[in-house]
Amino acid sequence: MRIAILADIHANLTAFEAVLADAAQQGGVNEFWCLGDVVGYGPDPHECIALLQKVCKVCVAGNHDRAAAGKIDTSDFNPRAAEANEWTAQQLTPSDVKYLSNLPLTIEKGEFTLAHGSPRDPIWEYLFSVTEAAENLTAFSTPYCFVGHTHQPLVFTFGRLKEGGVTKLEHESEVVLAEKRLILNPGGIGQPRDGDPRASYGIYDSSIRTFTLYRVAYDIEAVQERMQAHGLPAMLIARLGVGR
Ligand code: ZN
Repeated sequence: MRIAILADIHANLTAFEAVLADAAQQGGVNEFWCLGDVVGYGPDPHECIALLQKVCKVCVAGNHDRAAAGKIDTSDFNPRAAEANEWTAQQLTPSDVKYLSNLPLTIEKGEFTLAHGSPRDPIWEYLFSVTEAAENLTAFSTPYCFVGHTHQPLVFTFGRLKEGGVTKLEHESEVVLAEKRLILNPGGIGQPRDGDPRASYGIYDSSIRTFTLYRVAYDIEAVQERMQAHGLPAMLIARLGVGR
């Protein structure tokens, strides 16, 4: 079984389509799992929901999904994210809103727990440090966990004595799933923030128990032009080009 792990599509249809094409080129996958933030920031919220519904049956909610559906308010968002959220909410059909509203906070699939931010605080917590990641080990009971939200491809590794480490994942980095507990982040598709503007995602292959990270180039300028045409905040347009 091969599963593509997607996170933080952020209404960027061009990046999303490039990732789907890349997954097919890497030998194809049997399933897609999505870690939330389907919408927010980007120019194509409705189109991304429609495409995701077509290819992916397993998806948890992110903070932007909840906000766009009117389930949480945006007082904790920065002003530009709040502005983009307001625009996003106006683009959604009633069935889009229903889809986003019904996304669960966490999902367990076999050996994996899926959450947007973290297992203990799925909507809001950012996992950057080993300390924060270690505090989450008691919040999920499967050996492995997938998270998104930071838009940075990382793996947190924990040995039996809970001694932990964190490694940044590069294009074609491979992580073997063995006895150590892991929290894996596939990076962000629609708005990378690790200094590499290419879309980021991963494929888990259960036959070799290996997660492989991939970076995918896409037409960033085409997305920036659509954002401009919709009057989305300039800072959000610029950051796509630098991946920060
Ligand atoms: Zn996000």
